[in-house]
Amino acid sequence: RSFGQERENSAGVNLTDPDELAPLAESMEKAMEQRWEARALIGGKIHGGGKEVRAVDPSDNRRSPGVYYEPEESAIREAIGVAHKAQPEWDATPAAERAAILRKAADLYEEHMGELMALCSREAGKTIPDGVAEVREAVDFLRYYANQCEEKFGAEIPLPGPTGEKNTLRLTGKGVFVCISPWNFPLAIFTGQVTAALAAGNAVLAKPAEQTSLIGSLAVKLLHKAGIPGEVLNFLPSRGSTIGKVVTPDERIIGVAFTGSTETAHVVNQTLAQRKGVIPTLIAETGGQNAMLVDSSALPEQVADDVVQSAFHSAGQRCSALRVLFLQEEIAPRVLEILSGYMDTLIVGDPALLRTDIGPVIDDKAYKGLKEHVEWVKTQGKLIKEAPLSAECANGTFLAPVAVEIDDISLLEREQFGPVLHVVRYKAKDLDKVIDSINKTGYGLTLGIHTRIDSEADYIQRRIKVGNAYVNRNMVGAVVGVQPFGGQGLSGTGPKAGGPHYMLRFANERTLTINT
Ligand code: NAD
Repeated sequence: RSFGQERENSAGVNLTDPDELAPLAESMEKAMEQRWEARALIGGKIHGGGKEVRAVDPSDNRRSPGVYYEPEESAIREAIGVAHKAQPEWDATPAAERAAILRKAADLYEEHMGELMALCSREAGKTIPDGVAEVREAVDFLRYYANQCEEKFGAEIPLPGPTGEKNTLRLTGKGVFVCISPWNFPLAIFTGQVTAALAAGNAVLAKPAEQTSLIGSLAVKLLHKAGIPGEVLNFLPSRGSTIGKVVTPDERIIGVAFTGSTETAHVVNQTLAQRKGVIPTLIAETGGQNAMLVDSSALPEQVADDVVQSAFHSAGQRCSALRVLFLQEEIAPRVLEILSGYMDTLIVGDPALLRTDIGPVIDDKAYKGLKEHVEWVKTQGKLIKEAPLSAECANGTFLAPVAVEIDDISLLEREQFGPVLHVVRYKAKDLDKVIDSINKTGYGLTLGIHTRIDSEADYIQRRIKVGNAYVNRNMVGAVVGVQPFGGQGLSGTGPKAGGPHYMLRFANERTLTINT
């Protein structure tokens, strides 16, 4: 039943078919009018207290999709205790039962697609196609980890018994995991982490990003409805700093599944390193300084199209997004001419409208940081193009997609998480220098290559240290079970999400030897 052999990925919605679109639009509209509320869920009960925080719609800051309540530290400690107590029974639940619950949850996610997409739009500024992709990916994670659960945790693995003994290997859960997720895939990554941990037999404290607590809350309610016991899956809409103070230092937490910035991963790692007792597991999936190399044999039109999708769609807020485009000097003028023209046609605006290409960046803090970088980088290089903003953008945190030519990738100290493309021209004789400069950043998430020379593509992809390399296509949108995703170096610890080794990091291995 493994993915990859036969296609089991979610079909999503055909946005060009009015019969599919109409019911979706209706349920989205209804959900957008609703005022949502997220509270901590501890042991299956709604936690009554906490500090009220207003959720903000990034496409119009005057609008709010609802409120969430940050639980007190005492409630968070209680959740750790509840999960710790419940874990052994969950771990003893047959893998087939756990898998069946996840498959039911996948069906529920699909049934609630309109609500999930509405929240993705109003809380995270996702466009309609991005919202569909978000729900599909979450559904794929549920079904993929359900299959992996049965395959890997469902039966003992027989081992050789050369001395007449019977040897077997079995995978079990480790204990309690805290799953800490980012806002940029508020449903997909949140669901992927949580369900892999659960499928492996762990209890979970699910911590969404502050900006997307409402989506996290709806996801957890659906997982509970599907049958995950409330004691086994607890929901904490807390600030990162509170989790860093109360949860990660607690010795009852056996592991942390973290996706977010490299800087925060370092903080979590240091907290874990200071603990006494059992050495905890850290799975960290972090940022990138992703490059695309284009040689003179590439097709300029295709390059421009793939660059727009990779650098600007989703407002550049994908960890896999293109940040630095290297153009061989012979092809650079033509690619930049087409790219500039393309950027003029991009529609930046209300993400809830089908015609919109690019929505807002997540919040004011992100906007200000990106704007500051854009102003600075313009003084360091040459502006190629800044896309126009529509009148709809007046009250939201919209950043115009921008492309700036610079001399060298070394100018960029850190990842800029938005629609900002840096362009570097290179001479064919300097290819190795370019490759070295990319490796020198220390990041290793995604890589794009455009060339019609197979040996060139092969040479580049072998030499640049990344987790996911894409040849002659865009470099975003990895598909669960088909393109397992994750980086190396400053970009993450692995193993890859949506791949066959991911759940193993959530598991203990036990060898049993019986003298027969
Ligand atoms: P972030 O690091 O600011 O926050 C991530 C999560 O960590 C949030 O839930 C936050 O509340 C929590 N957090 C903050 N401080 C903490 C602490 N001291 N202890 C525990 N948790 C803490 O990242 P973000 O802005 O939410 O997300 C964007 C980043 O995520 C980008 O760098 C992007 O590249 C990266 N990302 C990586 C991948 C991947 O698969 N490699 C996928 C998506 C996003």
